[in-house]
Amino acid sequence: MKEFADYKNVWVFAEQRNGKLMNVALELVGEGHKLSREISEDTKVCAVLVGDKVEALKDELYAYGADAVYLLEDPLLGQYTTDGYAKVITDAINEYKPEIVLFGATHIGRDLAPRVAARLNTGLTADCTRLDVNVANYMDYLEANTTASLTGLDREDQSKGLKQTRPAFGGNLMATIITPNTRPQMATVRPGVMAKMEKAEGATGELVKVDVKLAASDINVEVLEVVKAAKEMVSLTDAKIICSGGRGLGGPEGFKLIEELAEAVGGVVGASRAAVDAGWIHPSHQVGQTGTTVKPEIYFACGISGAIQHLAGMQTSKIIIAINKDPECPMMKLADYAIEGDLKKVIPEIIALWNAQ
Ligand SMILES: Cc1cc2nc3c(=O)[nH]c(=O)nc-3n(C[C@H](O)[C@H](O)[C@H](O)COP(=O)(O)OP(=O)(O)OC[C@H]3O[C@@H](n4cnc5c(N)ncnc54)[C@H](O)[C@@H]3O)c2cc1C
Repeated sequence: MKEFADYKNVWVFAEQRNGKLMNVALELVGEGHKLSREISEDTKVCAVLVGDKVEALKDELYAYGADAVYLLEDPLLGQYTTDGYAKVITDAINEYKPEIVLFGATHIGRDLAPRVAARLNTGLTADCTRLDVNVANYMDYLEANTTASLTGLDREDQSKGLKQTRPAFGGNLMATIITPNTRPQMATVRPGVMAKMEKAEGATGELVKVDVKLAASDINVEVLEVVKAAKEMVSLTDAKIICSGGRGLGGPEGFKLIEELAEAVGGVVGASRAAVDAGWIHPSHQVGQTGTTVKPEIYFACGISGAIQHLAGMQTSKIIIAINKDPECPMMKLADYAIEGDLKKVIPEIIALWNAQ
């Protein structure tokens, strides 16, 4: 077992693409800030910025709460490659020994985090929806409720250990996972789940320029060209208003109505998996456990019953407006405004009212 006391600080992978930070990186800085303060007063949240000529992004990371930025720059890191990024991040973790390392559950984060965890021989919990440290009496709870042997665990270390919570068994229960025997503790977190901190313009912090050792021979693939998907992906994560449709739409033509609603209210079109599986709309619109997690100001759920897997992706929306024939379905119970009725009649009325404003 490694010496836990050697490991300190919370690291967040500050994913950037073409010199622009991903939203999830800033959300994780906010979450890392919260966790670091709960661990101890002198624990820092540090953003790990990887790329070529990306130093200028440090100011945005400080503004959103990073105490320090670890800069890993090299011309070979200009384009993302699994080998290159995994090597330099693993080397940096071995050198600086953070106790927690968080990645966004983006395509890149999901590719990178398992490689890094495997090289470090530590655990990784994917797709967390909640992270905690300092849960009172956690060890007492574990001892009373687990059949696993907990002998040899240091109570002090574990009480400040990371509790990584994620949906399990098809979303029917929430599992809390710990990393009792190794460090760092690693997790990926879906975009849109954690809250960014208020931007503090002009904030500064420590800059650590990491001595990157990377050769072309460390990278087994060569990126010849980056081709963007011809169809622009729906940006559900950043949308302030989402208008989602489900099986209650009755067919693909039902999404015409949802598109009209979205246009009227300035929203983006979302969907339940039932609508996606039926082939009524592209999978990039799916909200939920196996789709996108969203947290808009307003979420319209039209003809969506509110299965737990759908709720897992949208229940933290600020205002939920449900339109459904069934007043007893879970979505109508959860909604701030539950409109009972046929969506084909209700939606045109909402559009007319909105346009009349
Ligand atoms: C492992 C796993 C992962 C999953 N991941 C996801 C996920 O990410 N996202 C997701 O959405 N689902 C997911 N599901 C599927 C989920 O369990 C549900 O099957 C799905 O969400 C149901 O979609 P729905 O609400 O559109 O359909 P239904 O449950 O069939 O609900 C249709 C609703 O429309 C209402 N309705 C019908 N006609 C009208 C009308 N004319 N006007 C108004 N209301 C009407 C009905 O009263 C009903 O409430 C997952 C399932 C599994 C097992």
